[in-house]
Order: sequence, then structure tokens, then C-alpha cells
Amino acid sequence: MMPDSFLNKIAEEVKMCKLCPLQKSRKKAVPGEGSSKAKLMLIGEAPGIEEDKQGRPFVGRAGKILDDALRFANLDRKDLFITSVVKCKPPNNRIPTLEERKACKPYLKRQIDAIKPKIICLLGNIALQTFFKKAHISKLRGKAIKRGNCIYFCTYHPAAALYNTSLKSIIYEDMKRMKELIENLDTVNDDRLMLR
Ligand code: URA
Ligand code: SF4
Repeated sequence: MMPDSFLNKIAEEVKMCKLCPLQKSRKKAVPGEGSSKAKLMLIGEAPGIEEDKQGRPFVGRAGKILDDALRFANLDRKDLFITSVVKCKPPNNRIPTLEERKACKPYLKRQIDAIKPKIICLLGNIALQTFFKKAHISKLRGKAIKRGNCIYFCTYHPAAALYNTSLKSIIYEDMKRMKELIENLDTVNDDRLMLR
């Protein structure tokens, strides 16, 4: 099967999924969207109110900040794949529980296996801890970590900049540095990366 058909199949499963309690409160599940050939995958935390309405990732207020940051870094949304750790909106925008994250993780894993991105951008602590259990974003933001065949790049979640506007320029600059990393993947020296 081609990566596109894998992604479509995963999306269909997500839309009907009843594996965790979030299925009861969601309007629409948000499987994620973008290119099946993406070199870069962006992973957030969970859909918010607007995403839940539309069934699309990062289309609300945090999405606007993400779009601005991508534009600043000259990254085009259609070349990327954008999704979140859990695919359904938690009530009152609370953090998804460990059980919910665990239940939803196989979808994310299958999306990664289908796309095989060179770089995964982890947006915020929940995305970071999904891959590096005991890590904290305050220590790792702006850093790239190589593990296996993939480089994980960490930055703040765009929603954090809604409450603390000084984080906006940090996210912008991180995106720009990540874009440089993508362009220099063949020559990038492992010294620039933390190895795990
Ligand atoms: N925040 C996320 O983490 N994901 C979305 O899709 C929207 C907001
Ligand atoms: Fe299924 Fe994930 Fe939605 Fe839970 S959050 S119902 S595991 S798709």
C-alpha cells in the first residue's frame, strides 16, 4: 500500500474510534493532515474547540500562531504533516490523561511509520513526553535530538504564546532554525545534535 492509502485508512479508523473516553465528548476527531511525503511532521497536544468543530488540526487561535511561525520560517503547510498526540478534544481543554495518550498512541505511531519523516517537531511538553518520557520542554526547547533514523526538534506549543506573548518570537526563531536543519540534513554534524 502507498503511504497515502495508509494515512487515509488511519484517518477513517480515527473518525470512528471509541478506544478512550474522549470519543464521548468530541464533535469531530482530528486525525491530522498534510503530505504523505512530508520530511517534517509537526505534533501538538490535542484538538481545541475550533479543531473539534472542523475536524482539522491547528485551525483555531493556536493554529494562527503556528501559521505565522511557519510563514516566518518559509515552511509551507502543504509540504508538512500536522497532527496531535490525541486526536479528540479533551473536555474544557484539559491536558489529555496518560490513559488517553496511551490509547491514542498507536495511531500516531502508524502515521509516523507511513510517512517516515526525517524530522519530527514536538510542540510543547505533552508531545515531548510522548517520545521522551522524563524530558521537559523548558530544558529541551530549541534543541534537536537524534534517535534512530529520526531527528526530534522541540519547541513550545503555539498555544503557550497565547498566554505569554514573549514566547511567540522564540517559537518563530525555533522554526527558522529547524528549517535550516532540514535544508542541511545531509551535511549536518552529529555534534549539533543530542544523541539518544
Ligand atoms: N493544539 C494542538 O495541540 N493541536 C491542534 O490540532 C490544535 C491545537
Ligand atoms: Fe480514539 Fe484517540 Fe479519540 Fe481516544 S482520542 S477516542 S483513542 S482517536
